[in-house]
Amino acid sequence: MNARDIAGYVKSGKLLAAETTKKTLENIHAKDSEIGAFLETFEESAMRKACQIDSKFKKGEKLGKLAGVPVAIKDNILYGSHRMTCASKTLKNYISPYTATAVQKLLDEDAVIVGRTNMDEFAMGSSTENSAFQITRNPYDKNRVPGGSSGGSAAAVAAGMVPLSLGSDTGGSVRQPAAFCGVYGLKPTYGSVSRYGLAAFASSMEQIGPFAGDIEDLKLIFSVISGRDEKDSTSLPAEKQVSPALRQIKIGVPTDKIFQDVSGEIMKAFEETLDKIKREKISVKEISLESIKFSVPAYYIIASSEASSNLARYDGTRYGFEAEGKKAFSSYSQSRGEGFSSEVKRRILLGTYALSAGYYEEYYLTAKKVKHLVRADFGKAFQEVDIILTPTTPTAAFKLGEKTNDPLSMYLSDVFTAGQSLAGICALNAPVKTGNLPCGVQFSASHFKENLLFDIVKKIWR
Ligand code: GLN
Repeated sequence: MNARDIAGYVKSGKLLAAETTKKTLENIHAKDSEIGAFLETFEESAMRKACQIDSKFKKGEKLGKLAGVPVAIKDNILYGSHRMTCASKTLKNYISPYTATAVQKLLDEDAVIVGRTNMDEFAMGSSTENSAFQITRNPYDKNRVPGGSSGGSAAAVAAGMVPLSLGSDTGGSVRQPAAFCGVYGLKPTYGSVSRYGLAAFASSMEQIGPFAGDIEDLKLIFSVISGRDEKDSTSLPAEKQVSPALRQIKIGVPTDKIFQDVSGEIMKAFEETLDKIKREKISVKEISLESIKFSVPAYYIIASSEASSNLARYDGTRYGFEAEGKKAFSSYSQSRGEGFSSEVKRRILLGTYALSAGYYEEYYLTAKKVKHLVRADFGKAFQEVDIILTPTTPTAAFKLGEKTNDPLSMYLSDVFTAGQSLAGICALNAPVKTGNLPCGVQFSASHFKENLLFDIVKKIWR
């Protein structure tokens, strides 16, 4: 059942939130042993919240937009008094001292948070294989990855365990797993969803983003979690989004080389989408995003640089796993050495190197310049078109283990998604089913134009 129906039934008394929650948890337990989407289910607090909703209903009080809707959250988003580990040994026993604004907004609309989902450690990765605790399997093919880093949240929706979930997207971590798992996923405009309570990886790019089984549900959850938050100085008020009439919309299709380097199945999904667009008599225009070919290297330098600084706090003293028996420096180095996996260490080393005196200009500063070029290229394109259509990923879901020893090929999963993150614009994955595996296409729009993305997808996918 979709989120709108659940909320509608709960609000009209046809369904008890407690009953829905109990069934959801039972369903998760039945299905998740094969998938591994959840790191933990929150039985007690979920049932408590559901009973509160039911008693509010009995008293005749008004229920929220997400009354009784089960939602899963990625394990890097804080939910007060619940465990949050970022899928890292270093935070194995960390209990959230407060609740993220996005989660609080869900609770305020009477959603039920049913558990935390698996991810790549500290959101670094594209397959969820970097989790310190377990792997997650793609519900469409259990030998394949669900994508990452928000693989657990995508798989939970795809397997029908929850209608909605939250992930986070720094360079593609909502859009890519959404494409691999055949669900909708949104990377909101930078600043449109509060980052308060999101464990920091690359603060200048990341956003909490939702997954849903259909576009209306995606729109609904975004309307709940977005908006200015005093606790995040980079968040902005939801602008009054005025979408141009869909008839007048122009869709841009980049002709640059990287947009041609995709697998046959993805190309088929992309072309089918273009046909659908043309059948709607929406005009399509070729555009160029020249600097986009530099976005993956620039993204990885900036993201790693920010990670090297953000993750400095996990020294075993203030936060995190603490190795035994050592003092001061040796304790720091041993705790960090044992607490972080090799991918996290690789990023910290890369970032520290890129920021160090003598290399700063060549790496970090150059990457920042590329970021401005990419932003300018998107800006130019959006003077000509309203939306840009690309594939979301160069291939469909790859096999478990296929890329674990080849970080570079893993990083290249982000060729279509890193640019929007550098530019800070919004983009969503819409699923397309062509062969045995799901594929996705990505619609990107300028800052704070999420509604345009929802409208166009609704029109084309109806
Ligand atoms: N795959 C990218 C990375 O590993 C994106 C991660 C993300 O968006 N959190 O950094």
